[in-house]
Amino acid sequence: MILVTGGAGYIGSHCALKLLEENKKVIVFDNFSTGHIETIETLMKEGKDNFEFFEGNLLNLNDLDALFKDRNIEAVIHFAAYSLVEESMKNPEKYYRNNVIGSINLLDKMRQYNVSRIVFSSTAATYGEPKEIPIKETHPQNPINPYGNSKLTVEKIMDDYDEAYNIKSVRLRYFNVAGCDDKTRIGEIHNPETHLIPNILKSTFNNKKTFKIFGDDYNTKDGTCIRDYINVEDLINAHILALNYLSAGGKTDFFNLGTNEGNSVKEIFDLCTKVTNKEIPFEIAQKRAGDPAILIADNKKAKEILGWNPEKTLYDSIKSAYMWELKQNK
Ligand code: UDP
Repeated sequence: MILVTGGAGYIGSHCALKLLEENKKVIVFDNFSTGHIETIETLMKEGKDNFEFFEGNLLNLNDLDALFKDRNIEAVIHFAAYSLVEESMKNPEKYYRNNVIGSINLLDKMRQYNVSRIVFSSTAATYGEPKEIPIKETHPQNPINPYGNSKLTVEKIMDDYDEAYNIKSVRLRYFNVAGCDDKTRIGEIHNPETHLIPNILKSTFNNKKTFKIFGDDYNTKDGTCIRDYINVEDLINAHILALNYLSAGGKTDFFNLGTNEGNSVKEIFDLCTKVTNKEIPFEIAQKRAGDPAILIADNKKAKEILGWNPEKTLYDSIKSAYMWELKQNK
C-alpha cells in the first residue's frame, strides 16, 4: 500500500485518486488543517476497499506509530505541508515546525518500520530569485522566504537520510500547479483562496469580488508576473513515474515539474475570459511581497530520466478549474 500524506488537500487528493484508478491500495494521512472531509468522502467512494483514511498529525509520533504499525506500507508520497509564501513570512515558526519537523518525524518512522522510498513535494521556491530562465535543477538554491527554506531543508535532510539510512527520495520541484480532475470529482479548495486561476474564476460569479492583479510594472513583456503553469494531472503522472523509478532501484534525485513555458498574469486573465465567456471585473493592485518577476522551469531532466511527458494545455487546466468552480457555485 502507498501512504499519501496530505491526501485531503488539492494536489495530494489528485494523487490518491490516480493511484486508486491504477488499482493501487492507498492510505491517506491528513489532519484536515487545510484538507477537506468531502474530498476524503469522494476518495472513499472511488477507491472502495482499496482506500483507507487515517486522521492524524505528523507532529504526533503516536499517530505515526499507529499509522505504520501493522500495515504494509511500500512507499510514501509526502504532500502534507503548509505552502503559502506570504503566510510563511509572517509566521515562520508554523512553517518550520510543520514542514521540517513533521517531515523528520515521517522519515524517522519510515526508518523504524523499514520503508525506504519517498516522493516529496518540493517547490520552485527553493531556487529563490532566478539567475537564469528557464531554471534548471542545477540552479543555485537560495530561497527568499521561510516556505522555500522549509522545503529546501527537507531536501537536504533527505540527502543525509539516504547517505546514512539508505532512504531513497525523489524530490519534485513544482512550478505553478493548475486545473483539476477532468471529471470534477475533486478540485482546488483553499480558504482563503490565494492562487491566481481560481481567484480569477471566482470573480466571474456574482460575488462582487474584483480580481486583483498584483503589480503591472514588473520587467516583463506586459508588466505582470510570468509563471509556468503545470496541469495537476500531468504533475501527478510524474509522481507515479517517480514511484516506479524508485521501485526499480533508482537513486535519490530531484526534478523540476513545469512546462518550459511561461504566461503572464494578464495572459492568464485573458484566457480565463475566453474559457468562461464572461467579463471579469479586475483592478491593478500592489505587488505581493516576495514575488519574483519570472519563474519558468526547464523540465528536460524529468522527461529524460523519469520519461515524463506533460500533455495538457493551459486551456485544459483553466477549463477543468472552471468546471470545478461551476460545480462549487451551483
Ligand atoms: N496573482 C495575482 N492575483 C491574485 C493571485 C495571484 O495577480 O489574486 C499573481 C501573483 O502575484 C503571481 C501569480 O499570480 O505573480 C501566481 O500566483 P499564485 O499565488 O497563483 O502562485 P505562486 O506563484 O505564488 O506560487
